[in-house]
Amino acid sequence: MPRFGMVIDTRKCVGCQDCVVACQVENDVPLGYCRDWITTEVRGTFPQLSMEIRTERCNHCDNPPCVSCCPTGASHVEDFGKTVQVTANKCIGCKACIAACPYDARFVHPQGYVDKCTFCLHRVKDGKDPACVSVCPTHCMHFGDLDDPKSAVNGLLRTRKFHTLLPEAGTRPRIFYLT
Ligand code: SF4
Ligand code: SF4
Ligand code: SF4
Repeated sequence: MPRFGMVIDTRKCVGCQDCVVACQVENDVPLGYCRDWITTEVRGTFPQLSMEIRTERCNHCDNPPCVSCCPTGASHVEDFGKTVQVTANKCIGCKACIAACPYDARFVHPQGYVDKCTFCLHRVKDGKDPACVSVCPTHCMHFGDLDDPKSAVNGLLRTRKFHTLLPEAGTRPRIFYLT
């Protein structure tokens, strides 16, 4: 069984927000909410400054606190792809998972359940890339099986420098940012 993850090249991301719009359309995300977003981070001190533009979403962590704190089992690790998912009709809207996620990746859907990025499993099951990955005009996003040594994502991780978000949180995120 695969273990899905993403590798995103921050050197190619131009912050166009196409991924955000594609996600909203594909997943019927209500206006005013989002499953993915763009972050701009400036590093260093003047005049030695650098800027990273990142597309962010749920990291589908290997050690997800949102799952361990969920009292109903609504937040769970799906067998297919070992991704973190929410079963809407099991969610009681207690927001424990929202408090537990260090990435602010979840929101309460107007219909009362907690929602977030699904890694577009409905598309991946059909052999397609997630919507955000498929529309990126600079092809900066790569989706694949982290457990397959021959996958493109693993090839990139072997040959490029990368970082993850808040590694100190101990969540073991599965989105990797190439630098
Ligand atoms: Fe859970 Fe947040 Fe990790 Fe996603 S990013 S798996 S919501 S802790
Ligand atoms: Fe679980 Fe829903 Fe509570 Fe989150 S809000 S912890 S998914 S029951
Ligand atoms: Fe949205 Fe799918 Fe991309 Fe997740 S993988 S941010 S649900 S388009």
